[in-house]
Amino acid sequence: MVIYKFGGASVRNADAVRNLAKIVSQYPRQLVIVVSAMGKTTTALEELVKLYVDGWFNAEGKASRKPLTQAPDESQIADIENWHHFKNRAFEKLEEIKNYHLEIVHDLFSDPKHQVYEDVDVYFSSLTGMLNSEPSTNYDYEYDRIVAFGEIISTRIVSHYLNLENILNEWIDARKCIKTTNFYRDPKIDWESTSKLVPLGFHFKRTKIHITQGFIGSTSDNHTTTLGREGSDFSAAILAFSLNAEYITIWKDVDGVYNADPKWIEKSERLQKISYHEAIELTYYGATVIHPKTIKPLQNKRIPLYVRSFISPENPGTLIHSFDAPNIGANSGLTIPVFIRKPNQVMISVKTFDFSFVAEDNLSLLFGLFAKYRVRTNLMQNSAISFMACVDYDATKLPKLVRDLSSEFDVEVTEDLELITIRHFTPEVIEQIIGDKKIIIQQRSRVTARFVLGK
Ligand code: ASP
Ligand code: MG
Repeated sequence: MVIYKFGGASVRNADAVRNLAKIVSQYPRQLVIVVSAMGKTTTALEELVKLYVDGWFNAEGKASRKPLTQAPDESQIADIENWHHFKNRAFEKLEEIKNYHLEIVHDLFSDPKHQVYEDVDVYFSSLTGMLNSEPSTNYDYEYDRIVAFGEIISTRIVSHYLNLENILNEWIDARKCIKTTNFYRDPKIDWESTSKLVPLGFHFKRTKIHITQGFIGSTSDNHTTTLGREGSDFSAAILAFSLNAEYITIWKDVDGVYNADPKWIEKSERLQKISYHEAIELTYYGATVIHPKTIKPLQNKRIPLYVRSFISPENPGTLIHSFDAPNIGANSGLTIPVFIRKPNQVMISVKTFDFSFVAEDNLSLLFGLFAKYRVRTNLMQNSAISFMACVDYDATKLPKLVRDLSSEFDVEVTEDLELITIRHFTPEVIEQIIGDKKIIIQQRSRVTARFVLGK
C-alpha cells in the first residue's frame, strides 16, 4: 500500500485534475490519495473567516444588543452599516470560491445531472448557513470548521472524477480517522486513537483506492481541526505511519528537493537523496518543500518519502530515507551545500533592567512567554545580560509577546531581517552568498553556518 499526496497546485484547474487522474491510473496496487484544497482556496477561505468573524463582532454583536424597540443611535447606525459591509464582502468571497470550484466541475463533468453538482451545492449551502449564524468567540475554532471545507470539496470533486474515469475509489472523511487535541489550528495528534481508526477506515474492501483530505482532523468530540498551513504533507505521513505504507510520494510542481530556491540561486541542483535527519534539519531551518512535521512519523517506521513532479512524472525526484553511505555531514545523503533563506524575520533583543544575568530564572521566564504565544525561535543567542531571538514576522502574536516581555525586560525589536542557513558550508560558498552584506548575528557549527542579515 502506497500513499500519494497531491497539493493545491496539482488540482488547481480541470487539466490539473485530469493530470492527477493520469498519474493515479498508472499505479496498479492499493493506493491512498491525499488531496489539498484546490489552488489558493485555503487562503481564500481564511479571508472569508476573517470577514465573517470580524464583521460579526465589530458590528453585528454591538448592533444586535440594542433593543429593537429603540431607534438606533448614530454609532449604532454606523455599526449596522459596517456589519452589512462585512457581511456582503463575506458573501462575495464565498461566491468567488464557489464559482472557482464550479468552473472546474463544469469542465470535468459534462452531465449536468451528475451527483457532483448536488454534493458541491450542499457544501456551499452549509457554508452559507454558517455565515448567517453567529460565530462563537473562539476564532481558531471558527477557522477550522470553515477552512476545512476547501479539502472536503476538492476531494469530493476529485473522487467523483476518478470514478467517472473508471478509476474506482472510495472517499473517506479524514476527520473520522485522524484524531487530535482541541487546540484549534495547531493541535497535537492523538496517535493512539488515530493509529487504531485509520486502518478501520482505510480498509480497501470495495476499491483498491481510497481518497481523503490532507490538512484536517477532528477532536474526540468530533469538532473539525486543521493541522497548520501546508499540513497535508503531515496528513500523508500520519496515514503512512498508521497503515505501514510501503512509501509516500508527494507530487509537487517542482521535481524534488533542491539545494536552494532556484528563484534565489540560479545554479541550484536537485538533491537525489537525503537522509531523514538532513530533511528534518532542512525543514527546521526553513526549507519549504515539505511540512516540517512530515518526517518524524516516516523516520520512526523507516517509510521512504519521494518528492516528485506532477508536471514531469518521469523524473526520479528526491528520495528521503535513511542512508548509511558516508557522505558530507554524517550520513546526510548530501554531497553539496544547501542554502536556505528565510525572509521577513524579526529580532527580539531583551536586556535585564537591573543588570542581572540572563541565567536560569530569566531564561525560563523568557521561554515561558515565547511558548505562551507559540512563537518559535529560529535562532537565538545570549550574553551575560541580554538575549536575542530571531522569529518569523507575525502581526498577531508578536505584539502580545513584546508587550509581556516589556514588563519584565528592556526590549528592542528590529524588523525586516533575513535569516540565511548554509548546511555543509565551505568558506567559498559563504563568501559567495554573504559577501559584504550586513551581518547582525552569525553562528557556526561543524555543518551549519547561519547569518541574520540586515538591510
Ligand atoms: N490546503 C492547505 C494549505 O493550503 C493545506 C495544504 O495544502 O497542505 O495550507
Ligand atoms: Mg498547499
